[in-house]
Amino acid sequence: MTDARAPEPADWSYETAAVQSAIPRGLGQTIGFPIHAAAAFQFDTLEQAQAEFGQNTGLSYARLQNPTVRALEERLTTLEGGAATVTVASGQGATLTAILSVCRAGDHVVSASSLFGGSTGLLSNILPLMGISATLTENTPAAIRAALRPETRLVWAEMISNPAGDIADIRAFADIAHEHGALLAIDNTCGGVGFLCRPLAHGADIVAQSLTKWAGGHGSVLGGAVTVGTRHDLTRNPIFTEGGEASILNMRGDAALAWRQRWLGAHQLGMTLAPHSAFLIAQGIETLPLRLTRESETALALARWLSEHPKVGTVSYPGLSGHPHHTLAQTYLRGGQGAVLTFEVPDPSAFLSRVRVLRMAPNLGDVRTLVVHPWTTTHGRVPEAARYAAGVTPLTIRMSVGVEALADLQADIEQAL
Ligand SMILES: *Cc1c(COP(=O)(O)O)cnc(C)c1O
Repeated sequence: MTDARAPEPADWSYETAAVQSAIPRGLGQTIGFPIHAAAAFQFDTLEQAQAEFGQNTGLSYARLQNPTVRALEERLTTLEGGAATVTVASGQGATLTAILSVCRAGDHVVSASSLFGGSTGLLSNILPLMGISATLTENTPAAIRAALRPETRLVWAEMISNPAGDIADIRAFADIAHEHGALLAIDNTCGGVGFLCRPLAHGADIVAQSLTKWAGGHGSVLGGAVTVGTRHDLTRNPIFTEGGEASILNMRGDAALAWRQRWLGAHQLGMTLAPHSAFLIAQGIETLPLRLTRESETALALARWLSEHPKVGTVSYPGLSGHPHHTLAQTYLRGGQGAVLTFEVPDPSAFLSRVRVLRMAPNLGDVRTLVVHPWTTTHGRVPEAARYAAGVTPLTIRMSVGVEALADLQADIEQAL
């Protein structure tokens, strides 16, 4: 394949890169991402085939690489300010890929406990089956430091936690992890593909995220991605150093971590993202800055309005000055404080049966405003004390704000209350 792309200006703003990056220029080139519906790619000569099977850097079999998927990966790398990205079929697959890339049997992960339910499940139930243990602790530097063990390889936290809106103190977590010879991975799903926050710029080594939410943006596709930064120290992790001359670090150099993530997530575990999904996600990203700016403005207006409402209990949103992580939100977030808030209503069942604009569904980041009752659904299997710790009570409604008119959302909430 010839690459007709003009060099991309390194100083493009987010909005420009979201629509311009990874699209070739030239006569007859498509505007937008073409979908390469292909399971395999041809060779002319046996020498070409042998070279490709040795290197795995070009096109052979689509579990390993596809041009549509590769273009999305380039765009994600640009938007997160990283060195390389591998996409997989879901956010859950991205979490698994990120953790297995630096941990094996006997290793340990420390994670902030205010987490997406699927991540709690992986850390508490699935990784132990592979001999990898995890400690879930308070979302503070002191608690993270206290939970470290000699065999800790990874610290994990969510940029903006779902649903409590805790903000990871990335700089502090990175320093603690690095002093220990471990890496810091941030789940940036609610950071909107680097739009609200770029964790790699604050010291994180790995960004994992669900592309199902703000990237896709229209409730129409599942996907996930793992992006690595340009600098990370792997010299204290035996996965990368053992074997001397033949070690991963020696063979792959600066690309060792990205290589291992692609090898695990796509080649070996087969969680490859489909090209049609890559197309939908790439197209969704093009309007992400517009959507998330507006959604954040509406979320802040609703949070303030709900805080004053006589029928509404506790309102939690990091953009409110009373939120425990409001200062961290101002340190790390640009362009808004996100689209997710929670509020307590007197009778959640009655409220949810009366809504006419809001829709009850468990997704986030949709253009439509979606609500759920976390206590009995998304967090239903989480132990009760942990539910309270995650900011979920029996009266809590979680809302992912869409792009509808503020007045229509307010009128709907008012009549449903
Ligand atoms: C949804 C979500 C995931 C998992 O993503 P899927 O695409 O549903 O597999 C991971 N982390 C966070 C914060 C999420 O909201």
